[in-house]
This record gives sequence, structure tokens and C-alpha cells, in this order.
Amino acid sequence: MTETPSTEIKSGGFNANLPSGFNQPNDAVGQRILKEYGALFVARGGATPPNTVIFKNESEVSAYQSGLSKSTETLGGFNIELQAAAIKGLKEAIAEAKQNNLTITPRGADSGKRTYSGTVELWASRVNPGLSHWVGKGKLTESEASRIRALSPFEQVPEIFKLESNGMFFSKDLSKSIVYSVAPPGTSQHLSMLALDVNEHDNAKVRDVLAKHGWFQTVVSDLPHFTFLGVSENQLSGLGLKKVSDGGRSFWLPSL
Ligand SMILES: [Zn+2]
Repeated sequence: MTETPSTEIKSGGFNANLPSGFNQPNDAVGQRILKEYGALFVARGGATPPNTVIFKNESEVSAYQSGLSKSTETLGGFNIELQAAAIKGLKEAIAEAKQNNLTITPRGADSGKRTYSGTVELWASRVNPGLSHWVGKGKLTESEASRIRALSPFEQVPEIFKLESNGMFFSKDLSKSIVYSVAPPGTSQHLSMLALDVNEHDNAKVRDVLAKHGWFQTVVSDLPHFTFLGVSENQLSGLGLKKVSDGGRSFWLPSL
């Protein structure tokens, strides 16, 4: 079943522009994910965002992805499959970039679409070394680390957030929250097929061209990561998004 993407921008801010039937999270983890990654849920321009903040397993992800209108493009040697509207905006951006002797290429094979198991693997790739690191630093006991390792990836999320609130961070360089490095299992914007990790993210001209074609930065300090929102920059505040400036860049987050 393909849902009809909404095109209209309603007054009433972020909550008014969420997909119909959106499951508002009522737990702390869900609410944090909505705040950090939530811009995606008000995507327009033919995009179909999910109506849940956390997919619980592979079958929920496949059910959602199989209902989308998708298209695949070979970019920089990788087959990138995204929602059709997102690919269209991306191809237009690439064409405009080319006229200015710039390129827009994906960072790797998993820079576009991801599966639930892909998000579980990425999560473990930060959590497991992080637990060993903090045990080595004497901040965490081995028995506590073992207890957390034994939990399901989903159950680990609140535990990791709790350790981070005590100064034990789990990003790749262990300096910031894991949410700016990898998404908790089932929450990645890449599951929605509306996100792309871009090699040339450091170039402000490339960021401008992507923005002109509906692609914006929406996860603070995840620098290569862009999200298809399908509108022009002057429409973003109407969708209930606010601009957060960080490190000379603009990120668009839910105004909650
Ligand atoms: Zn990404």
C-alpha cells in the first residue's frame, strides 16, 4: 500500500505537520529521538515519512519500506536507493553542482537506505568498544558492562543514555553522545530512505546546492548527513523547524 504524501504546509507548527496517524512517543527515549532526528517527519515534496519514531524490528521496517515509491541511482560507484522524490531532488542537485564543477557523491554503500539489522550493527560498533573503554578507565565495572552487553539493542538505548548523562559518551571518538554518531537501532533516518551521507559535506557551496533542491542538515554534528525535506529553506520554519547554528553550519530541528 502506498500512502499519499502530504504536500500542504499547515499552520500550527511541527506537531500540526506530522504525518496523519503519527505515533507520538510518550517515553523518554522516543521523545529524545523525536527532538534529535525529528525534522524528517515533516518532510514534504512527495516524501512519505514514517509515522513512528522507532521501528521495533526488521519486519516493521520492511513493511514501511515496501510501501514507498522508490528509485535507484548509481552514484560514485554505489547503487543508492531512496524514496523517488528524494532521488529526484538529489539528481537535480548533482546536475546543478556539475555546472559549477562540483560533485555530490555518497560516502559508501550504506549511505542511503539501511535495514534494521544494519542499524543494529552500527549501534553495536559504538556501544561495545565504548563499554570496554569506560571499564578500562575505571568509570564502569565489568559486571555492569556485561549486564548491558547482554541486553537487546533496544533495551540498551536507555542504559547508554544514562551512562552518557554521567559523562561516559559513546560516539566514535567518545567525546559526544552516540546519537550524533550512530542512531539507536530502528531510529535511523536512513531507514526512511530520505537520508544520504555525502562526501563533499565540507563544501558550503555543495550544501547550498543541496538545500536548493530540498536536502538539508537535520542532525546536529552528524556532518556528512543530509535529509530530504522537499521544500525550500524559507518554508522550513512553517513546518515547525528551527535553525540551529553549529560549527558554521545550519541544522534544522523540530521546534519543540
Ligand atoms: Zn547518515
